[in-house]
Amino acid sequence: MAACIFCKIIKGEIPSMKLFESEKTLAFLDIGPLSYGHSLIIPKYHGAKLTDIPDDQLSEIMTVTKKIASASGAENYNILQNNGRAAHQEVDHVHFHMIPKPNAEEGLV
Ligand code: 5GP
Ligand code: ZN
Repeated sequence: MAACIFCKIIKGEIPSMKLFESEKTLAFLDIGPLSYGHSLIIPKYHGAKLTDIPDDQLSEIMTVTKKIASASGAENYNILQNNGRAAHQEVDHVHFHMIPKPNAEEGLV
């Protein structure tokens, strides 16, 4: 979709810090991280909500999300996926957040 910023990131029209890329999936660092290592994992297929994406286009997402969580080294992390404005979705291209949570003794970020 031409106006979609995540489609532009997929095409390389907007720069990003890429962490992983395959035929169907892209992972990159969030531009406004809630914590160090906050990452986004997206299907290359454009769809606004989870229910808009065919299963075969989502098949890798959990595997890649696990890899990104593991590679971050975080012991504690949240996986988050928002659908719709009332659910705090800002970018209308399906994305999974991987948000590391620092240990309590390291302080909150
Ligand atoms: P949402 O609220 O839609 O679940 O989250 C959208 C996320 O996309 C936000 O955390 C925001 O910081 C991130 N984001 C928005 N625009 C860009 C961008 O151009 N590049 C990157 N890397 N992240 C973005
Ligand atoms: Zn898109």
